[in-house]
Amino acid sequence: MDFLTEEQLMWRDTVARVMKDEITCAYVRECDTERRYPYEAYEKVAKLGWLRLLIPEEQGGDGGTIFDYALMCEGLARYGFDFATAFMVSTFTAMNVVKFGTQAQRDKYLGTFMRGERRFSISISEPSAGSDAANTRTRAERNGDDWVINGQKLWCSGAAAKNVTIAMLVRTDLDAKKHFGLSVLLVPNDTPGLDIRRLPTMARRATGTTEIFADGARIPGDCILGDPGAGWAIITDHLELERVAVSAAYVGNAQQAVSDALQYAHDRIQFDKAIYEFQVIRHMLADMQTAVDAARLMVYRAADMASKGLPCAREVSMAKLIASETLQTVTRQGMQILGGHGMLPEADMERYFREGMQGTIGGGTSQIQRTIIAKSLRI
Ligand SMILES: Cc1cc2nc3c(=O)[nH]c(=O)nc-3n(C[C@H](O)[C@H](O)[C@H](O)COP(=O)(O)OP(=O)(O)OC[C@H]3O[C@@H](n4cnc5c(N)ncnc54)[C@H](O)[C@@H]3O)c2cc1C
Repeated sequence: MDFLTEEQLMWRDTVARVMKDEITCAYVRECDTERRYPYEAYEKVAKLGWLRLLIPEEQGGDGGTIFDYALMCEGLARYGFDFATAFMVSTFTAMNVVKFGTQAQRDKYLGTFMRGERRFSISISEPSAGSDAANTRTRAERNGDDWVINGQKLWCSGAAAKNVTIAMLVRTDLDAKKHFGLSVLLVPNDTPGLDIRRLPTMARRATGTTEIFADGARIPGDCILGDPGAGWAIITDHLELERVAVSAAYVGNAQQAVSDALQYAHDRIQFDKAIYEFQVIRHMLADMQTAVDAARLMVYRAADMASKGLPCAREVSMAKLIASETLQTVTRQGMQILGGHGMLPEADMERYFREGMQGTIGGGTSQIQRTIIAKSLRI
């Protein structure tokens, strides 16, 4: 991968070093085991200034590229995709305020976000709106100057943490066609009338994912992002950046799974030799590393195109598809190489495996990515 620039290589090494020496794998494991949000790490990352990376310079950020951001996501996820989600969900959702917010909204949110004092979550899904994300039933109605929200959202990751503003997709026009009556509201998670409950999921144990019940939750009228009815356009744009970020994170986590499996194969002695000496194990590791390299190349291509502002929905879906499926495949193979040991939290592989199972669902399932790719094919 030596086509990265010197700066990009240094940046990738910096993130890897901070994860290894300052945040540590043990901390990530502990947050997962205890189902605890990684507040300490979030504060550290904020102090390092990494939350500013994608925010344009004229809005107080560092004006980094989406490629730089992908390298960060890859590094943050090395000890677990879920851990990286705490940062990714906040940073890619903040970009909606940058792109679609009014100057007053940017002034209100971006300073506190970059200092780590305010987080963001994205709430698209509902019980009846999964892959069919525009099937939103949660409603927001004008009442005087306010919006009043009623309904139920599902799977909103990170929404139960402290000081979160939820970018919530709601239906604001019942008469408009399915995709046109939607808007995105910026809803603080401590709004009276919201009941946010963490779900006991197999994966996403630290960042947490939630169900949200809105019963007459009232927010000021100026909390709408963009124009009423612009919700679907905002979410479509949002999902492209989200998919670049998560794809890079799957690759980061998958690489660690391969490295751990390789180390274990050298350390584990059976029949008087390291299991690495068995060709069947060596070949499995060769396949695993090849798959991770292939996924990484596809992710870097998508991130590069997105950085240059090129149309890349197809390449982003390809990256999401291959990276999530690679994480799932290599962690299953990793579980096999680690034998019984892999079942224990201390081995980390079971955590990577659980995260892999989530990867082909969250951010749009593999089937939906294939549908997007197929639509782009031309004879
Ligand atoms: C841990 C976790 C965290 C999440 N975090 C968030 C979040 O922060 N914010 C948010 O808004 N959402 C979040 N999600 C929701 C996620 O985006 C949805 O789960 C996903 O889009 C799939 O929706 P669904 O689970 O309802 O499955 P369904 O849409 O019901 O799909 C079930 C199955 O049917 C298939 N299927 C459905 N439609 C089609 C079709 N047209 N063609 C072919 N196959 C199809 C799917 O691929 C899948 O295999 C999260 C989910 C999980 C599990």
